[in-house]
Parts: sequence; C-alpha cells; structure tokens
Amino acid sequence: MCEFCTKHGEGKIWYKNAANYGQDLLSDLNRRRYIEGFLTSAFADGFETLGRLETIYRKKGKLPRAVAEAMVAKAKAEHFGQVLPIEEIGHVVSKARTVVRMPCACRWNIGKKEERCCYAISYGPEAWYQGIDMSYFGKASDEGLEPLTPEAAISQMTAMEEQGSIHTIWTMMTPFIGAVCNCSPDECLAMRTLSRIHVETIERAEYVARVDEELCNGCGFCDLNCHFHAIGSVTESGRSLARIDPHRCFGCGLCRSACSTGAISLVLR
Ligand code: SF4
Ligand code: SF4
Ligand code: SF4
Repeated sequence: MCEFCTKHGEGKIWYKNAANYGQDLLSDLNRRRYIEGFLTSAFADGFETLGRLETIYRKKGKLPRAVAEAMVAKAKAEHFGQVLPIEEIGHVVSKARTVVRMPCACRWNIGKKEERCCYAISYGPEAWYQGIDMSYFGKASDEGLEPLTPEAAISQMTAMEEQGSIHTIWTMMTPFIGAVCNCSPDECLAMRTLSRIHVETIERAEYVARVDEELCNGCGFCDLNCHFHAIGSVTESGRSLARIDPHRCFGCGLCRSACSTGAISLVLR
C-alpha cells in the first residue's frame, strides 16, 4: 500500500475508493478553477519549469533538496499520477459513467502533434472535463472530446500497451481522480522528470513484477521493454535468467506483455 492508500483509501487501494471520484469533490470551487487553467498550468508551465531544472541539474549534478521536495509536494497536492497495470485500469474505467478520449497534452506540448491517448472519466452525472480549456490544443471548448464506451476505451488501451505505452491514472487536485493516460516515457512530463532530474512525481503501482524461474528461458525481451531499468540477468546452474529489482520496478506490466513463455506475473508489493 502506498502513502495515497493510507491517506485517501481508508486502508484499501486508494483508486478503488469511490469517494475519490465523487461529485462532492467536483463541486469544490478551487478544483473547478484548477480545471479551467489545468492544461496550461500543469503542462505548458510544467515543461518550461522542467527545462530550467534540467539546466541546473546538468551544471550541478543534482537539484537542491528543497526544490525537489517542493516539486513532489505540489504534484501530490494537485496532479499526481500512479502507474497501473492494465487489469487495474480495466477496473477503474469499467465503473465510469462517461469516458472521453482526448489528445495527449504532453505529446502536444513537445511536438504539437495530436495523439489521442488520454482518457477523461466521470463517475457521476456531471463530468469534470466539460470545464477544460481546449484552446491549449487550438480547439474550441466543445471540440476534441470523443465519447466512447468504457469497453472500447479499455480495448484501445490494451492495444496501446502492445505499442509500449505505460498506463497511469491522475488526480485533478488530489484526491479527485479524473484521467487515465497511456504514456510514452520520452514524452510524459512526469516520466521525463524522473529520468532527467531524478525527481519522483509519479507513484509506482501497488504491484511488482515477479519472474517464475522455471518458465524463464533468459531471452531478455523483458529487459528490452522495461523503461525503468529494473531488469537484469543472473546465471544459475548454467542457465541465464531474468531478475527483477522490486525497488526499481514501477509495476507497469510491459515486461509481462513481452514475455512469450508467461514467466512474468504481477503481485502485490
Ligand atoms: S500523462 Fe501520459 S497520456 Fe497523459 S498527457 Fe502526459 S504523456 Fe500524455
Ligand atoms: S522475457 Fe520471459 S523468458 Fe525472456 S528473459 Fe524475460 S522472463 Fe525470461
Ligand atoms: S520490471 Fe516489468 S513491471 Fe516492472 S517496471 Fe519494468 S517493465 Fe514494468
């Protein structure tokens, strides 16, 4: 269980707590104001800040601790993400009353290219995404939100995993959960923050990958597919085997998809 489960999950997995999708949270005026400016403040400003911090990191070899701590605290309070394996994404999305697909704000910020791999979800009659300012994507407010069924969304996300996307969920001012994303490690703001300045503004899944050594043939495809450098190999009794470092593993499940022998499973941390 992560810190969010303790704070927002009543002792259970926090994103399974229906209260975190509730209409009473959505009616909070501060949250509504946050949603109006969300794309600019979280993404355009976020990428600009990351660029400045990367320069400091390159020059000094690290960030001042207070800066890193402030970044994490801000992310946890406003727009915090957690990696989820596809089956958990399925649970979250299947309960949604409405789902819309929209362009990815990170990829748009980097290349002004529209890739529709972000999903906004709503559990109640009123949907938070109606208040979002789509002019960030050069669109009118009623453009770019494509309604679809939860089943269709899950099937699209399953296909995205085969292309190497990592599934994540996101708060719109914590603990309200509003978005399910399918991220590319090179373009996602939070994953760039992790790989370029080593600040964790995204949480690991509640699950971790485990290798069944009887089934592993040492092919190494899992390692090639892991973006978090969590997989190495060991030789035991003359056999090469994959070995996963649970402290590095984010629980995304991409190694499992890549393993043709079914040697990898995800288990609770
Ligand atoms: S979190 Fe992922 S899907 Fe969402 S906007 Fe960023 S890269 Fe795109
Ligand atoms: S992909 Fe599967 S079989 Fe290949 S090394 Fe990884 S765990 Fe072993
Ligand atoms: S070891 Fe597997 S589940 Fe863990 S981060 Fe790497 S690819 Fe994802």
